[in-house]
Formats: sequence, C-alpha cells, structure tokens
Amino acid sequence: MASAKAAAILATWAATQTLLLILLPHSRHIGPQTPGGDTVSYRLNGVPTFIVTIAGFYLGAYWLDWFSPTIVYDHLGELLMTCNLAAIAGSVLLYLKGLWAPSTRDSGTSGWRVWDFYWGMELHPRLLGIDLKQLVICRFAMMGWAVILLSCAAKQIRDYGELSNSMAISVSLQLIYIFKFFWWEGGYFNTLDITHYRFGYRNFWGVLAWLPAVYPLASVFMVKHPNDLLLAAAIAIMALGLAAIWANYDADAQRQRVRASAGDTTVWGRKPVIIGATYTTPDGRQQETLLLMSGWWSVARHFHYVPELVLAVSWILPAGFEYALPWFYIPYLALLLMHRAAYDDHRCLEKYGQAWRAYCSRVPYRVVPYVY
Ligand code: NDP
Repeated sequence: MASAKAAAILATWAATQTLLLILLPHSRHIGPQTPGGDTVSYRLNGVPTFIVTIAGFYLGAYWLDWFSPTIVYDHLGELLMTCNLAAIAGSVLLYLKGLWAPSTRDSGTSGWRVWDFYWGMELHPRLLGIDLKQLVICRFAMMGWAVILLSCAAKQIRDYGELSNSMAISVSLQLIYIFKFFWWEGGYFNTLDITHYRFGYRNFWGVLAWLPAVYPLASVFMVKHPNDLLLAAAIAIMALGLAAIWANYDADAQRQRVRASAGDTTVWGRKPVIIGATYTTPDGRQQETLLLMSGWWSVARHFHYVPELVLAVSWILPAGFEYALPWFYIPYLALLLMHRAAYDDHRCLEKYGQAWRAYCSRVPYRVVPYVY
C-alpha cells in the first residue's frame, strides 16, 4: 500500500535530486534541433551527481545515522505503490501543462484526449529552466535504480553477515551500466526517448513506476537468495557484462561521433561509410543529416540492442535458474527492443525515404544478422 512514510522518502529523494541538478557544477549541453525548430538546453552534471548521491547514501546511512541503508528495500512495496500513484497524478499534471502552458513548439493535441494523455502533449516539457525529462528519467529514475541496488546489497549484508559474490557481481554490473549512462548523458539527449517520445503517461509512468519495480528485480530477489559462484563463473559473467556495456556504449558513440564531426572521423579504424539523408520538418524546412553504415551500424540496423540484452542476462545470471522471477526483465526487454527496432525502422523510412531504403539494402537485418 502507498504510505505517508513512502511519500516522505520519495519527496526527499525528488528534492535532493532537483537540488543536485541545479547546484552541482555543470556545463550546458544543447540538444539536437527539435522537429518544431527549437533548441533545448540541458545541465550536464550526471557524473558528479552520481558520485555525490552514492557518497551521500553511505554518509547518511553509515556515518551520520540519518537513515538505515536498508531503507529502500525495507519499504520497497509501499515505495513502489506510492511511485505508481505519483506517476498517475504527475501524468495528469503533464497533460494539463501541455494543454495550458507548453514549453516549446513541439506540443499540441492529436485530437484524441485519451491518446494525448497516454502519449503526452509535449516533447520537451520544462519548468523554471529545468528539463522535466532529464530530471525525471535521468535523475529520479536512473539514479533511483542505483540507490535501490545499494539498499539491496546492504540488506543482504545485514541479514547474512556478508555480501555473496553473486549479489556483488550483479549490483556492480548494473552500477557500471548506470555510471556509463551518466558519463554519456549528453548522448542520451539524441535518443528516441528524448527526440521522439513525448512525455506523457507512457514514458512518465514507465520510468517512475515500472522501472524501479522491474529493472532491479534480480537484485531484490537475490537479497533472500544468497549464492556464491565459483570464481571462474564469476569472472566469466563479469567479463561478459563488461564487454556488453562497452559494445553498447561504443555503438551509441559511433553514431553520435559521425554526426557531430560531419563524417570526418574514423570508425573501427577506417573512414566511415555514410549516406546523406534529407528530411522535411513539420513546419516544412528541409534538413540534412547522415546515416552511418560502418562499425556496429553495418552489422545490423539496431545491433546495439543485442549487447543491451546480453548485459541484462549477465547481471541476472548470478541469480541462477531455479526461479523464473529474476528473469522477468529479459522477455520484457527483448519485446521492448524488438518492437522499438521495428517502430524506429518505420519512422526512419517515413522520415528519410530513399536514403533509408539504401541503408536497408546495404544492411538488411534489423537487430540480429540472419535472424531478424
Ligand atoms: P538509438 O539511439 O539507436 O536511436 C535511434 C535513432 O538513431 C533513429 O531514430 C535515428 O534517429 C538514428 N539512426 C538510426 N540509424 C542510424 C544510422 N545508421 N546512423 C545514424 N543515425 C541513425 O535508439 P534508442 O533510443 O532506442 O537507444 C539508445 C540507447 O538506449 C541504446 O544504447 C539502447 O540500447 C538503450 N535502450 C535501453 C532501454 C532499456 O530499457 N534498457 C530501452 C531502449 C533503449 P534520427 O531521427 O536522429 O535520424
């Protein structure tokens, strides 16, 4: 059940993350031009915020005794229920804001109120100079995931007197992945979540209520199922996870580096093969961009989803195969990514026409060569 205590914890979390976003030293990052012709600026301070958040968690829990390190795990049920209510209420507020006070020109109704509520009224809602997508997705949700993991590890230590190596590996891989996310935060502002999906119930509820319930599920499960892996298995899983994080990062970086340098760079040590693509913005302007056909982007059109999945497998593997529950994330993520690949293909075909067809004929598979 939702509770006043959970609401107080979440309010403290939201206030802390908002203050860190505003107050910690940051550089300004200008996102890609929006379809409506606006530019959106972000504060880039994800890495210092990650470090301060983790350090603050340990300081507050172990040195200052402000709260128990197991606080999140101990109240997880009520926290998730409260997140759920807050996400529904917040989606209504986002809908009303989009209706009455949109922040950019990339907003407006589809004519269907239920769809507007679900999909969102605004692409880039902002409040007092703060980008709400960055605040909610990056800081409340992704940073919150890290704290849930730390609390799970603390709970296992408290209950069993030590941290199993399976929990240590699983939590470490997820924390490295989250750190990578903040290291690359500027790149995240070029992805579909930011440039295409509006901020409505779908994405807002997804990151505030679904993400904390589902993404750290394996670690929540492992609290009560400690299990020590053989050293060779532990090393192999860690190596697999690290390789997957690197490949996923490298694929995202290749695409962004090629566009940022107008193709004047190298990909896997060679000059990249690129194709010029043009598209028309909703207000009728002609724009040009590049499609990369080298590196990871020559293996399949969305090959970077494979290491995303392999990484998730590697942080769940330490939970073993006795129970199905920790594996729930895998079919969910696989469906999400396969649907996303198909959706993105369709979107890019509409956007780029012939240039996208040329890319598809050179790189015929969507995600996995010879399979899909
Ligand atoms: P991408 O970052 O791959 O963005 C897709 C966009 O990239 C396309 O819409 C197009 O945008 C552009 N693009 C496509 N092909 C090319 C090409 N060959 N050359 C240049 N640009 C191209 O998609 P996502 O937003 O899905 O993924 C971003 C990251 O987030 C990935 O690392 C992914 O694994 C991860 N992710 C994680 C999820 C999770 O829940 N764990 C869910 C979804 C993603 P444009 O209009 O600019 O041309």
